[in-house]
Amino acid sequence: MDWDSLTFSFTPTDMMYVATCKLGEDWQPGELQPFAEISISPAAGVLNYGQGIFEGMKAQRSVNGGIVLFRPERNAERFAKGAERLGMPPVPASMFLDAIEAAVGSNARWVPPTGKGALYVRPVLWGTGEILGVAPAPEYTFIVYVCPVGPYFKGGMHPISLKVSDEFHRATPGGSGGVKAIGNYAPGMMPSKGAKTEGFAEIIYLDSTEHRYIEEVGAANFFCVKDGVIHTPMLTGTILPGITRASIIDLARERGYEVIERKVPIKEVLEADEAFCAGTAAVISPIGTICHGDVCTIYCNNELGPVTKELYDALTDIQLQAAPDEFGWVRAVPVPEISAE
Ligand SMILES: *Cc1c(COP(=O)(O)O)cnc(C)c1O
Repeated sequence: MDWDSLTFSFTPTDMMYVATCKLGEDWQPGELQPFAEISISPAAGVLNYGQGIFEGMKAQRSVNGGIVLFRPERNAERFAKGAERLGMPPVPASMFLDAIEAAVGSNARWVPPTGKGALYVRPVLWGTGEILGVAPAPEYTFIVYVCPVGPYFKGGMHPISLKVSDEFHRATPGGSGGVKAIGNYAPGMMPSKGAKTEGFAEIIYLDSTEHRYIEEVGAANFFCVKDGVIHTPMLTGTILPGITRASIIDLARERGYEVIERKVPIKEVLEADEAFCAGTAAVISPIGTICHGDVCTIYCNNELGPVTKELYDALTDIQLQAAPDEFGWVRAVPVPEISAE
């Protein structure tokens, strides 16, 4: 494996975890199978009505040589909430965690060396049973597949430029924006592509009611810093409760910062000192410029803001066991002595 050529793209690996469950019954533990295509009815609920959710997490080779996950029990919790929101039987947390460990352990040879990237772990839950009317499918499939990915910031962290959308919204109150529902993501592709043709890396979405408050950046949470105080949009139901977001809040508070979760007006953001976005893939991505209409604010060019850098270093050090894990966030994955043939 040429680890240096890895990018954030799909590579098939050895094994995947698969379990199924009928509506109204309990989940029974699934099993590892060789990674392969699956067959699915054209009448499956997931294909016709979007009855599906996903998760995204990383298994990494820590500086101690072991394979570690970051707060996977939070993914389990979020996955169960998402299942309930979409009318699917929630996978019990213990089964979810066993599935993650089995999928990572059986693909241990695909975990990149420390610093060369991660094994991206993708749990999905789909209504795979056939259904014609708009209703929960009669059968569900839970799959965990994994895929090696390169480091998010290859050749250093480059601050991104973002455009605030006045035209598009990601989520509405009472909708599914607060869970990782598969249907939430395709509607963002066209706005995101439009922003990219204008030279921006992504879109910033405002709230859909007042069009004044920041919601998210594409599929990442938003933070800004003003006079040493950290601000991030509060979880109103339309914002995805990121695990990176929650961890940054705890870590920053522990390091003595004041962190305020509130409705963050775009007007104030344009006057902030630093801005960054947060999610599993990049951990923290510094924002260089935000444009809203004709008004652009430049936060930084190549130098990262000091708070952005401090939190990025502190969080990635914990994740890689290069710093003490005072919060108990890191979970070692038992690796089979001889991985599956
Ligand atoms: C997954 C996701 C995030 C980030 O969540 P993490 O748990 O930190 O990876 C933020 N926003 C959206 C819309 C997401 O789908």
